[in-house]
Amino acid sequence: MTQTVIAIDGPSGTGKSSTSKAVAAKLGLSYLDTGAQYRAITWWMLNNGVDVDDPVAVADASGKPAIVSGTDPADPTITVDGEDVTGPIRGQDVTSAVSAVSAVPEVRARMVEFQRAVAAAASGGIVVEGRDIGTTVFPDAPVKIFLTASAEARAARRSGELKGAVSVADTQAALARRDAADSGRTTSPLAMAADAIEVDTTRLSLDEVVERVVTLVEEKRAVRDR
Ligand code: C5P
Repeated sequence: MTQTVIAIDGPSGTGKSSTSKAVAAKLGLSYLDTGAQYRAITWWMLNNGVDVDDPVAVADASGKPAIVSGTDPADPTITVDGEDVTGPIRGQDVTSAVSAVSAVPEVRARMVEFQRAVAAAASGGIVVEGRDIGTTVFPDAPVKIFLTASAEARAARRSGELKGAVSVADTQAALARRDAADSGRTTSPLAMAADAIEVDTTRLSLDEVVERVVTLVEEKRAVRDR
């Protein structure tokens, strides 16, 4: 199963989602956004009166929501208990709370199990994006990419996505807080796998990043099929 997983990790604002979707579409693979799953469980906690700063309460509730992820890179859907939450999980309330929820080991155990099941069901291979895909979820993935970019470039991109509603300086501070929480947690922190290839996207266009990743995948396939 893990032969067909392409792991794409890295912090926010490095172009992970756009790259992962485009690579999957180009290579005819499925696509899984694990960040959307952590956001979905966070959205459920916020909407069901769970105190997201109480790890015991979050752990107790972690088995309750039923999360379903669609794996079409052209239309990656996500539902919680049958409700489409594609829009709501991008809200500021979820973004502020997601690092605390995703640091809870019971939440991670459930999500990792779920992610492996989605990949096992995807025929023909899958691009999986996140923070711990190459280190924890699929440590045997044959292609592991770790995207990086300067703090300024990441903040400018994210602020652009928010259509300037939040200033670049505030966005940069918020990203730095989320990076610190995601990298500093005990259970499967944001980290680059020892055998991952780092791609710095600061000065690259999306097309250039996609091209690089597709080339890496094709090189790996050529070695495998030799
Ligand atoms: O990728 P995105 O920014 O949507 O991820 C939201 C949050 O989900 C991250 O800040 C992190 O706290 C959590 N996450 C994680 N592990 C993953 C993917 C996301 O902890 N594999």
